[in-house]
Amino acid sequence: MKMSQLFVQTLREFPSDAEVMSHKLLVRAGYIRKLTSGVYNYLPLMWRVLRKVENIVREEMDATGAQELLMPFVQPEELWKESGRWEVYGKELMRLKDRHDRGMCLGPTHEEVITFVAREGIRSYKQLPVNLYQIQSKFRDEIRPRFGLLRGREFIMKDAYSFDTSQEGLERSYKVMADAYTKIFNRCGLETKAVQSDSGAIGGAVSHEYMVLIDDKDNNAGENDVFYCKKCGYAANSNHAVSNLPDAVIDGGFSECRKVDTPNTVTIEQVADFLGVPATVICKSMIYIADKKPVMALIRGDKQFEETKVANAIGAIEIRSASPAELEEIFGAGKGFIGPKDLKDIPVIADLTVKELKNFVIGANENDKHFVGVNWGVDLSQPEFADIRLVEKGEFCPDCGEPLFVTKGIEVGNIFQLGTKYSEKMHAVYVDENGKEKPFIMGCYGIGISRTAAAAVERHHDEFGIKWPISIAPYHVIVVPVNVNDEKQVTVANQIYKELLSKGVEAVIDDRDERAGVKFKDSELIGFPFRITAGKTVEEGLVEFKIRETGEVLKITPDEAIQRVVDAVSQIK
Ligand code: ATP
Ligand code: MG
Repeated sequence: MKMSQLFVQTLREFPSDAEVMSHKLLVRAGYIRKLTSGVYNYLPLMWRVLRKVENIVREEMDATGAQELLMPFVQPEELWKESGRWEVYGKELMRLKDRHDRGMCLGPTHEEVITFVAREGIRSYKQLPVNLYQIQSKFRDEIRPRFGLLRGREFIMKDAYSFDTSQEGLERSYKVMADAYTKIFNRCGLETKAVQSDSGAIGGAVSHEYMVLIDDKDNNAGENDVFYCKKCGYAANSNHAVSNLPDAVIDGGFSECRKVDTPNTVTIEQVADFLGVPATVICKSMIYIADKKPVMALIRGDKQFEETKVANAIGAIEIRSASPAELEEIFGAGKGFIGPKDLKDIPVIADLTVKELKNFVIGANENDKHFVGVNWGVDLSQPEFADIRLVEKGEFCPDCGEPLFVTKGIEVGNIFQLGTKYSEKMHAVYVDENGKEKPFIMGCYGIGISRTAAAAVERHHDEFGIKWPISIAPYHVIVVPVNVNDEKQVTVANQIYKELLSKGVEAVIDDRDERAGVKFKDSELIGFPFRITAGKTVEEGLVEFKIRETGEVLKITPDEAIQRVVDAVSQIK
């Protein structure tokens, strides 16, 4: 490809709306252009990268015996009603009507459609197990599309679905996918950690997310907190992580239950200071609006709630904290003074940390007042207890007791053991050895193709531009004649370029009549893994060979330069 003809326009500046490096660089280097919020044109360079990621995914999926198909992007409402998700999926599901007023949606994921495909196509246990996958655009009307391809509204996903006849079979299929995922991301130049996660709207009991860890404090592209143990390997998304706590004071030491004045003590610290007790003997109360109804959640004063866990514990789909106005309306008391005593008609869910509290402190549902010396079963009836606590740094591994560490992560893949969640609801069954109908036992497995490419940029760049891993680079090498009016330089560059092409290398030649500085800048920004420059040294039979990843520069012969690129390309697999 001649640079003069390549459809690419690099920009002098980073786009003003971009917050993270992959977004900034992919726009500036001419890979993507925004069409509308969260929706991007994948320009030719980007499309080459995406196709490479797709092909790695395809090769590894095919190697497991999974079979590729393609399902429609537009899906009928009826299937979503059968699964029960039409009502619960929320606003991310882009719903529309056809000309006959029939409800449709743009596919955010395809559990319903694949269950339909299996219901139509699989009759007997003899056809199982089977794993079907597709690579396709998805649409989710994300509340906050941002970070370019990392969180778009339209994005490309690989989604696979396994069908088994037993839990053991599902676990085998799951393990095969887990191994394939590690290989896929490694081949894309990404080290990942498989972490336990919440199953969210997809459902099922067991799931793991594949996280690209982002340790850099200044890089906020990692939207997830990952807790992990260096000793035993425990790793979990914060929405799912559990931990053991250090010992703490849990007896408030009050001799009786009574109401006391606590003027202007809105925060836990203020109550603790005022009463002269540690925060650990205060029971923090919070009102959530869960599926439009208020619920009270309780936790020890020094701990925080984890909203996903709260939602799971009460079986809610949508959850948010109540506004000050809602608190006033429900309790007649403001933030800081609400509590679980004498509540009417409001369900209570309490974290395990409050179960052990004795003679503790709660809000009195009256401004500027608290109850002290409260005990479960005496002053308050026992609520339902569950783990709804956010794990924090410094707490201990639930498996081995060592300290937990926390880091940020980008979720590039997610695998789920669904079980019969969809097959039962949608009556998707096969006939077993005894002639009995049984629902399929399903798993589902997603990879964000476009997010993976963007995550590779997050991991591989410097202040000058992208440093593509060679396996997913749009081209392997750029050949730069420094001066296109110098016959010798042009001849050598052309020879190298042709030789590279004849050896199956994906090469670009920068034939533009531009200053060397401009060509070098563009080559670094676009991120070609190698650059071969034909400059003044061609007189001595040498070219400059630059390795983008390390910045290393060598003066070598054209043949050596070609050989190095050929060798690197041959090692891609
Ligand atoms: P997130 O928690 O980041 O919103 P998710 O858990 O809802 O993602 P899944 O349903 O697990 O996403 O989808 C499978 C994969 O698709 C994800 O692991 C991710 O790589 C990718 N993906 C999901 N949402 C987006 C998005 N808005 N933009 C780009 N890729 C996405
Ligand atoms: Mg996920």
